[in-house]
Amino acid sequence: MKISRICEATAPIASDIRNAFISFSTMTISLVAVETDVLRDGKPVVGYGFSSNGRYAQGGILRERFIPRIMAADHKSLLDEANDNLNPFAVWRAFMANEKPGGHGDRAHAAGALDMAVWDAVAKIARLPLWRLLAERYNAGRHDKKVLVYPGGGYYYPGKELEALRAEMRGYQEQGYRVVKMKIGGADLATDRKRIEAVIEVAGGGENVAVDANGRFDLSTALAYARGIEGYGLFWYEEPGDPLDYRLNAVLAEQYAGAIATGENLFSATDGRNLLRYGGLRPDRDWVQLDPALAYGLTEYLRLLEVAKEMGWSRRRFIPHGGHQLALNLAAGLELGGSESYPGVFQPYGGFADAIPIVDGYVRPHDTPGIGVELKPTMFAEMCRRLQMG
Ligand code: MG
Repeated sequence: MKISRICEATAPIASDIRNAFISFSTMTISLVAVETDVLRDGKPVVGYGFSSNGRYAQGGILRERFIPRIMAADHKSLLDEANDNLNPFAVWRAFMANEKPGGHGDRAHAAGALDMAVWDAVAKIARLPLWRLLAERYNAGRHDKKVLVYPGGGYYYPGKELEALRAEMRGYQEQGYRVVKMKIGGADLATDRKRIEAVIEVAGGGENVAVDANGRFDLSTALAYARGIEGYGLFWYEEPGDPLDYRLNAVLAEQYAGAIATGENLFSATDGRNLLRYGGLRPDRDWVQLDPALAYGLTEYLRLLEVAKEMGWSRRRFIPHGGHQLALNLAAGLELGGSESYPGVFQPYGGFADAIPIVDGYVRPHDTPGIGVELKPTMFAEMCRRLQMG
């Protein structure tokens, strides 16, 4: 068994949206296909991956460093002989050879896309949905039959702010979602309070509404918002300040009784450990959102969960950013707290299997081998076309 070729491509994931910090009008992602010489129904098993959303494609790192290192490695060194499969940890070590530690940024997203494709191939070779393979290998067979999902949305609509926001939230409810998320910090606090109240009215209560500042606030603004929203009893208050400002987060956590969520812009297990060490997060109520597809992949995410366990954190407090099928597989197979979802934006990559509905805020995992990319036919066709596969 061996990896016979690896392809990468850059694809647009443009959305006509804006958060408190950036526009997504020129956003791109990296796609990766890992082809093996294992045959199923006469065709080689191919694993597919992509680098979530929000951080741009990383083709140079894949083409110039990661892919050549894997193809130059001794095939046997990449195998998991006990399971007659590829060893994703060995592949990860091969492509990360001669990379210095620290400075986790664009490299982590390239690794995330490549690692996703490797795990998709591993699960297909094992003839198991990825969530089931993870449950068997890392969770004593336990798994969730349904996963909490919430749409990342609630953007700004200049000129028709409340009306369009309510309509967006009603749309999510019609699709089966219960908890919804909205952006804040793109307007002043008084305006945002009116927007939050409009969404609470549609969602049926603050406990069904999360707000996301996308790292926009300094400490005094974060605290002012905390005081301004505390009475709503929100599901969470997300990424109030700069992702690396652990002190801001810690001071906020001392003064805000509600739940805080953060971590989507941290890209390694070490960064996650620093967040848990220094960010003041409370294991009884707060949420950790590192995105495996942006942060060196599922392989690194398993390391993060080990770090968290040593620090007394339950996996239930982990709810990955990204709204992709990899996160859903992790959530189901490792019994995380849930997964973000992007039913309306970042298409065709956002959302889960087309034929599996969201019911009362939950989605059940799929039954086919791998991550399930083939169950999103529009996305799968686009990936194959850009990667010149299939
Ligand atoms: Mg966010």
